[in-house]
Order: sequence, then structure tokens, then C-alpha cells
Amino acid sequence: MPELPEIETLRRDLSDLLLARTIKSVTVRHQRSVRAHAFSDEFSEPLAGCVVYEVFRKGKFLSIAVGHGASPDLALVAHMGMSGQIRSFSMYDSLPKHAHIWFELSGDSLMVFVDPRTFGQMYLDELGSSGMAASLGRLGVDPLNEPGLVRQAVKRFSSSSVGIKWLLLDQTIVCGIGNMYADEILFHAGIRFDRPGSSLSESELDVLSKTIPAVLSEAVALRGSSLKDLQYRDVHGAIGGYQKMHLAYGREGMDCLRCGQKIERVFANGRSSYLCRSCQR
Ligand SMILES: [Zn+2]
Repeated sequence: MPELPEIETLRRDLSDLLLARTIKSVTVRHQRSVRAHAFSDEFSEPLAGCVVYEVFRKGKFLSIAVGHGASPDLALVAHMGMSGQIRSFSMYDSLPKHAHIWFELSGDSLMVFVDPRTFGQMYLDELGSSGMAASLGRLGVDPLNEPGLVRQAVKRFSSSSVGIKWLLLDQTIVCGIGNMYADEILFHAGIRFDRPGSSLSESELDVLSKTIPAVLSEAVALRGSSLKDLQYRDVHGAIGGYQKMHLAYGREGMDCLRCGQKIERVFANGRSSYLCRSCQR
């Protein structure tokens, strides 16, 4: 599933592709991809003729500000779910399978939402005070957009008896982290995934609040992680590079690159977690 670094990579590429372009028309080929709307016309018709003003990201969501007038009046929200991709094509390319929503843009280009497993979705929303979709106001602190607020958000972990990994996955405290980057962040911070939040010392909370943005921005610099299933692709269809830097996630049975002990994989709460028992306490 794409997480913050993959969506931030997508946001940057889409800014280049979309800014000041006009959406000429929208074709929905699969109703489930716009399931927040009762009819697909409710999604496609308001977008026709809109100009793209800005592409925002909050956590794992994209919020594209569009409108007909001098300023934006509508947010086009996209969530990639398990396997969603937004790809750029020319009018003359043949499209991949599972191309569920087509946006015809000025300049003879197409933006296409591709989603084999159909857990992703797009919907229209009103603009909130931040210029992003109002519905994204429920999300917690974004570690890259709001770095000054991370320490305060992480402090909330210390009042919970829930395991630290599940607190990192709670999108209402800090948003954008999923299973893969949670394991990488906890490895770098030297903290076991199942430690209750309340057991973390002040200095561990400090380390964690610095590790979260550090790991995520390093992953953005390498354009995200593409795993073996290659489901994550950028706008141009290329894979990311951060999977080569993974120290824990996906490395079950391999030697820890810090201490040489074997990386373990543990199932808990319906997810697997990868860790080194000697480096993480
Ligand atoms: Zn180790």
C-alpha cells in the first residue's frame, strides 16, 4: 500500500503535470472508484472545464484544488488504497488494464486512475480553511508538512497503553505512516513494535519524533518504495528506490545490517511486523 513517501512523490510529479491545465472531461469506467457519490456523473460533471490550481497532500491523501473561476472552489481527493496509481499518458497511448477513471487534459494528455484491487477511490469535497479538502481536517499531524508539530503529537503516545506500532498507524495522531514505514521508523529508533506507548521514556519519544520525519524524507528523496509486487509506480510508470534501503521491512530471516542477528517477522493484530530483537528494545 502506498504510504506518505509514495504519495508525496506522486504529488510532486502531478504538480508538474497538472498545474494550470484544464480538465476537459472525465470518464468513469468503474463506479466503485467513485463510490462516495451515488452516481458517477456527480463526480465527473463538476470537474469538466475546471482549471487545476494546486496539488496538496495530507498523510496518504492527495487533495487537488480545482475551479472554474479566478480561484479554486472544489477539492478532488484521491486515496490509493492497496494498489491505486495515477498515471500520465498521451491521447495516443494504449491504456493499461484497470484504468478506472480517465481525465482528458488540455494539451492532449490523459491522467488515468489505475487500481487493480479497487480499494482506492476518488471523490469531490468542499475546500477547508487550509485550501485542502474539508474532510482531511480529521487527520493528525503531517510529519513533512508540519514538522514543528511532530514532537507534540508524539507526546500523545505516552498516555496510551496501546503498542507503539498501532499508535504510529493511527492516522488521527500522526498521518501518512503505514505498516512498512512503521517498521522502518521503529528499527531506526531502536524501539520494539509492541512496547506500550506509556512505557516510552522522554528520550525515546525525542528520538522517535526525529526519526519519523527523517525516515520519511529520505524515502521521498529516493521516490518511495516499490515492493516485489511492483504495485507502486510513479506517474511515468517507474519504480521507487527506497526498498533498497530497508533495514527491517521484508527482511525476515536475513541478517540485521547493524548487528548480524536474524530479522524476525511477528504476526500481531492482523499484521506482520519485522524487527531485530537485539537492536530494538
Ligand atoms: Zn540488529
